Amino acid sequence: MSNIIQAVRGMHDILPDASYIWRHVEQVLLDTFNSYGYQEIRLPILEKTDLFKRTIGTVTDIVGKEMYTFADKSEESLSLRPEGTAGCVRAAISNGHMYRSVQRLWYSGPFFRRERPQQGRCRQFHQVGAEVFALSGPDIDAELILLTSRILKNLNIAHLVHLEINSLGSIVSRQTYRQELLAYFSQYHAELDTESQQRLTLNPLRILDSKNPQMATLIAEAPKLLDYLDTAAASHWQQLLAYLDHAGLKYTINPHLVRGLDYYSNTVFEWVSPNLGAQATVCAGGRYDGLIHQLGGKSTPAIGFALGLERAILLIQQQANAYSVPLPHVYVIPENNDSIATALILSEQLRSGIPGINVVLACGHGNLSTKFKKADKSGAIWAIIIGSDERVMDVVTLKSLRVVGVQQTIKMADLVHYLRSQFLATVKHP
Ligand code: ATP
Ligand code: MG
Repeated sequence: MSNIIQAVRGMHDILPDASYIWRHVEQVLLDTFNSYGYQEIRLPILEKTDLFKRTIGTVTDIVGKEMYTFADKSEESLSLRPEGTAGCVRAAISNGHMYRSVQRLWYSGPFFRRERPQQGRCRQFHQVGAEVFALSGPDIDAELILLTSRILKNLNIAHLVHLEINSLGSIVSRQTYRQELLAYFSQYHAELDTESQQRLTLNPLRILDSKNPQMATLIAEAPKLLDYLDTAAASHWQQLLAYLDHAGLKYTINPHLVRGLDYYSNTVFEWVSPNLGAQATVCAGGRYDGLIHQLGGKSTPAIGFALGLERAILLIQQQANAYSVPLPHVYVIPENNDSIATALILSEQLRSGIPGINVVLACGHGNLSTKFKKADKSGAIWAIIIGSDERVMDVVTLKSLRVVGVQQTIKMADLVHYLRSQFLATVKHP
């Protein structure tokens, strides 16, 4: 039996051929959040289990089945965070009531749920999310949705997703709807699948969330939330749609789009893609005006969203123009051991003198032809060769790795200046 230790199931290494895409995605997200005045908040990965019990609720799959929970040495129960809103609200309440002034916050990092691993569903996954506190109107809802739309555009995956929206109404009006729904599904109790039968008593709204195709007809004919909105919720909803229409953003109203938790109200939305199989939702968000109060803060409106990075990156990788690892520009080859010190210094000079250049020094053993093969394979544009003859004459050989037979001898003192102009011409402005 092999004693090689494997990674935990559903928790993946992100290797260099993919990490470059991750960096790119993270940079796009940072730039986009900056362009909307959002500020970053960094939150702990471990929280007290009670936080998630009180926010997400014990009857949900997340808290009921999927959390990584353990007793700390002090016997306190801690959990790896399964989502970001709870921690962000906790931080806002415990850090000087920062939630009471307008705050536009974003966060990113790993999250943990013990779900069945499959494409687009992992046990350690990554989300980038945002939360906005102290704004209650449809204006911020519209802006937040436009922000998610811009993120998807900037990631070049906007054409692969579409927006679905709905309104859950106020917490009070939803109680009436919940009763109607309970009555409706109870008539068809025998036709409900086991999961939906369980949801019927715990939280009938979540039946609408069922992914089971056999439930589709029953769900399609169920009473619709939008018919139960009270006046304030109806006007919030109409105004939001008007803002989105005015901004030219296309959406589908999905009357069965729900968030299972009680503290959600009014706006809910999801960006969905047909290219992701069963794990179709890339980004999901909604208004949660009841949560801060539920956690002991002063009643404060809030809205947020979370984007699943694994799913966004799956979409990016499906594109022909998927990003690739950055290649070196220059490969520096010392011909013998005596030339290593000069090669080291020369490489440093290139990095200091040509911002953005990627210089790889051929370290280690191997004869010249092996080093040349590696240089060719590296994808670099130029090789610089430094041997004993070159050192005596204070020159290097600069060889093109793209055009066969093109090489020149160039004075060491002129190399940085010369390569900078070549670099600007070929790389920066191709
Ligand atoms: P799902 O449709 O996957 O069950 P969810 O409703 O549980 O989603 P949210 O809690 O709303 O998901 O999380 C927001 C986003 O985070 C999802 O739309 C998805 O992109 C991503 N996400 C959630 N769970 C996972 C997971 N286990 N693996 C990868 N991504 C995930
Ligand atoms: Mg889920």
